[in-house]
Amino acid sequence: MSHDESLELQILATIDKWVEQELRPIAKEHDQADEYPSDLVEQMKSLGLFGATISETYGGLGLSASTYAKIVSRICEVWMAPSGIFNSHLIMANCVERAGTDAQKEYFLPKFATGELRGGIGLTEPDAGSDLQSLRLAAKKDGNDYLLNGTKTWISNGIHGNCLAVLTKTDPTVSPAHRGMSLFICEKGEGFTVGKKLKKLGYRASTVRDIFEDFRVSADNLVGGEEGRGFQQVAGGLELGRINIAARGAGMAKGATTMALNYAMERKTFGKTIAEHQAIQLKLAEMSTRAAAAELLVHQAASKFDRQERCDLEAGQAKFFASEAAVQNSLDAMRVFGGYSYSPDYEIERFYRDAPLLCIGEGTNEIQRMIIAKQMVARAG
Ligand SMILES: Cc1cc2nc3c(=O)[nH]c(=O)nc-3n(C[C@H](O)[C@H](O)[C@H](O)COP(=O)(O)OP(=O)(O)OC[C@H]3O[C@@H](n4cnc5c(N)ncnc54)[C@H](O)[C@@H]3O)c2cc1C
Repeated sequence: MSHDESLELQILATIDKWVEQELRPIAKEHDQADEYPSDLVEQMKSLGLFGATISETYGGLGLSASTYAKIVSRICEVWMAPSGIFNSHLIMANCVERAGTDAQKEYFLPKFATGELRGGIGLTEPDAGSDLQSLRLAAKKDGNDYLLNGTKTWISNGIHGNCLAVLTKTDPTVSPAHRGMSLFICEKGEGFTVGKKLKKLGYRASTVRDIFEDFRVSADNLVGGEEGRGFQQVAGGLELGRINIAARGAGMAKGATTMALNYAMERKTFGKTIAEHQAIQLKLAEMSTRAAAAELLVHQAASKFDRQERCDLEAGQAKFFASEAAVQNSLDAMRVFGGYSYSPDYEIERFYRDAPLLCIGEGTNEIQRMIIAKQMVARAG
């Protein structure tokens, strides 16, 4: 066994222990109360999760996308929401590590790695989601600073984080529109107003509307030090983001299958366990196959990412398939649980509420299929 393989096993064993001891016991209560798991955040800091994919040079764990994806899946087998606390944070970190200036890397990455600064990415606006180039949040130069005015919405970690990577318009007149878009790392301060907590179907952790009113950010925080490159900088980070959503989906698909199997082996009807009825066996077989296929697609995309090969097609396929697998397996597991599926006492209903988010985040599955097809045509050409 190589050094990397044994390190991965060690890390995954630590994560498994943490999931069983700390995460599983509080999942149901926190989800139902829609309460932010502050204790888990402190534990995540000690586990190094806020620096999981940040290079060791900057104080992170420097994990490969493959190991990182396995960590995310293990967590989401039990409860998906906590993974969102460090996932979008690491996309922000990835943007800085790939596209930031040396000074930005030296200042931000060590603070991101410890979780002293933590947050996520602010792309979506009330009138701009899939069509990001139509966003309106304005960043106007003012001496050595920029003034940000506008509204972001649905931003994960917007309430409890203290820092966001914010995609803005520095030039609303230029064509194509992406040339007028710039990314800023914004630490919370005057002019950064956090709107009310949004009520959600599932994924009950921390999403809000953020409003920027004359929020002053130093030109030093313009990622890469040059205007007009924000869209590409963010798009580059979304490959890792899609692998991470796919890993969440694969984990949820597996978790739902395990719950259904355990229940099917206990519940009896007509004198035998429901696992002995063929109709239930067909469901279990389909669920486990879907979960296994999702895991393999995640592995394929993450391995390509680790080899620094272009992987937008593979990350898109993994994200699309694994998120749909999570939705389908949650629904199938609800069927296996019968009437009890409808009770919050049985945690499968949380999977059923949480899973649809995975078809929306990091590019909806409609957009995902367009990316996959475009790449198919380009590669064939
Ligand atoms: C819980 C939660 C957390 C989130 N966290 C974040 C976050 O941290 N940061 C952030 O920036 N955003 C976040 N989002 C926002 C999310 O990324 C957007 O909701 C998503 O990108 C879709 O945008 P939209 O909702 O505006 O839908 P729209 O873009 O309006 O799309 C509506 C529908 O039209 C389809 N559609 C759009 N364009 C096309 C097209 N060209 N062809 C075919 N179909 C199309 C879409 O697939 C969708 O079905 C979060 C959302 C949720 C629900």
